[in-house]
Amino acid sequence: MAVRAPAIGIDLGTTYSCVSVWQHDRVEVIANDQGNRTTPSCVGFRDTERLIGDAAKNQVVMNPANTVFDAKRLIGRRFSDASVQSDIKLWPFKVIGGTAEKPMVVVNYKGEEKQFAAEEISAMVLMKMRGIAETYLGSNVKNAVVTVPAYFNDSQRQATKDAGVIAGLNVMRIINEPTAAAIAYGLDKKATSVGEKNVLIFDLGGGTLDVSIVTIVEGCFKVKATSGDTHLGGEDFDNEMVNHFVQRLKRKGISGDQRSLRRLKIACERAKRTLSSTAQTTIAIDSLYDGFDFYSTITRARFEEMNMDLFRKCMVPVEKCLRDAMMGHSNIHDVVLVGGSTRIPKVQQLLQDFFNGKELCKSINPDEAVACGAAVQAAVLSGEGNEKVKYVETFDVTPLSLGLETSEDGAMTVLIPRNTTIPTKKKKIISSTYSDEQPGMWIPVYEGEGTMAWDNNLLREFELSVIPLPPSGFHRVSVCFDIDANGILNLSAKDKTTGQSITITDDKGRLSKDEIEKMVLESEKYKSEDEEHKEEVETKNALENYAYGMMNTIKDASKQLPAADKKKIEHAIESFIQWLDGNQLAEADEFEDKMKELESICNPIIAKMYQGAGGEAPIEIEDDAPTSSGIGSNNVGREIKVNVLWCSFFVEFIFNILLYFW
Ligand code: ADP
Ligand code: MG
Repeated sequence: MAVRAPAIGIDLGTTYSCVSVWQHDRVEVIANDQGNRTTPSCVGFRDTERLIGDAAKNQVVMNPANTVFDAKRLIGRRFSDASVQSDIKLWPFKVIGGTAEKPMVVVNYKGEEKQFAAEEISAMVLMKMRGIAETYLGSNVKNAVVTVPAYFNDSQRQATKDAGVIAGLNVMRIINEPTAAAIAYGLDKKATSVGEKNVLIFDLGGGTLDVSIVTIVEGCFKVKATSGDTHLGGEDFDNEMVNHFVQRLKRKGISGDQRSLRRLKIACERAKRTLSSTAQTTIAIDSLYDGFDFYSTITRARFEEMNMDLFRKCMVPVEKCLRDAMMGHSNIHDVVLVGGSTRIPKVQQLLQDFFNGKELCKSINPDEAVACGAAVQAAVLSGEGNEKVKYVETFDVTPLSLGLETSEDGAMTVLIPRNTTIPTKKKKIISSTYSDEQPGMWIPVYEGEGTMAWDNNLLREFELSVIPLPPSGFHRVSVCFDIDANGILNLSAKDKTTGQSITITDDKGRLSKDEIEKMVLESEKYKSEDEEHKEEVETKNALENYAYGMMNTIKDASKQLPAADKKKIEHAIESFIQWLDGNQLAEADEFEDKMKELESICNPIIAKMYQGAGGEAPIEIEDDAPTSSGIGSNNVGREIKVNVLWCSFFVEFIFNILLYFW
């Protein structure tokens, strides 16, 4: 993989992720190893291996406590957050409060209890997406644009960026999902669009709702306003259906059984998807709980009724967004549907009614639009785009007002109002008196629209160390809020009295440089362990193939083989397969030794039989080329291939002789 690959776009979703690349003058969505164009944002930990994506999701029922999803709901949040606390109640995996209130996922991996930060879980998903792109492009991928919901605050964005670093990526830019979707829409509509257009991006996914109004003028995308709900999406609709059935099954005692609940949830999600295109569907789960088979039908009307409050809730941010952008319904040229949950007919209907019957834009793929926009942004940033996208320029805005608690009464002084275009810089002079015991100063930064600081979310706390202290102990400090293009806040401060810069120690909730470096190393270690495990499984498969192939060969050539030889081979293969079944976790060289043992029994007999039939002895390949794992599994695979090839030639040869005499 020597060639440098183009930069990629990754939509790191709560439930599904998607990777895309700008190549051959267009955007290409890259399918994963299963052929799927979106990959579950899910990581499964087992005794022998770590699984990411579809493979992880497929084993969730068997391994619910060690299969982690929804990491995006945790990233950049404190353990005590009300939303974290309510999510924990629904998750089958364990989350504890770590140092500095960092939520840590606790799993059992390879027989040991391990704790992972949300950044590490997201990094595993990003690593998977990177791997999908590398397999497709045939080269190393380094640069990427990663998307986040518009509602993500500074610490969630920083944590997402950190996850990229842990995954070995250079995150060129963090952009808002609706902005990325608008880019995909702009690309699609380019041929037909003239002049300025206001589009409302309605993105309802698995866990979040983002509503944004984006103005597009000649390749320039400017987010006018953004609003949303960080806790509203497809999973909530699934949960409503699960709760509905759990109520009905209460007597059966299902509610405490995680495994049954997961099975029910998977079935409900499937039913929900079906109800987007049919009026009624059935849910059938064999032996759901205690040998009890579950069978039920559900109509679209019933599903809509149980979710009506949530669906209506989806319209609130739409109204708010229009108000913020100071626009009426008639100012919106197009309403663009993004996110898997916008396939729900009732959601579409409510939205259409909201816009007085206006036709909704469904021309872009709701699952892929965000990744496509991210790939375009990546191409533009790395200078790889063509004429079509050269002019793409994005301007995101701050989702919430940022400010300080400056006065004694706890009022919030807003420095950067909501919906300010980023990057942006604002300065504020604060006066403060220090005592000898307290030479430092804490600056708590809040986000939110409340007039009092305590009504808002405490985003970060910065410590300013003022050394040396002026004799008066009085300072005038100029604090500068600098929000970069990723929406990440950097704070700097200067002492106006002494003219000195002030050292700022960031709060403890985020990962330090050392912690990230440690996680990068661990992530590489896990990756190489995954590869080793994959090779072991491949070696084992190759051995099994050899054994079964040999069994078939002797069956086909049973007349040519003396009974004693046939028995000898059969016995050797049977005991070999028995050994394989009982030693699934054996090391690669043990497999190799066993293989040699089997070959030493089978090969001379087959060679003798072949020579008797006028052929040549089988070829033994001695390959000294180093193998990637250093365990010689490639040699084993090659030898097996040669042997299997030889066997098939031999069978064909015998068959031709028989045919000739017949
Ligand atoms: P995210 O970006 O939040 O990960 P996606 O945009 O990929 O989410 O949407 C995933 C959600 O969409 C899931 O909750 C899934 O159940 C839902 N979904 C996908 N297809 C359909 C459908 N046909 N009808 C209803 N919901 C759907
Ligand atoms: Mg999404």
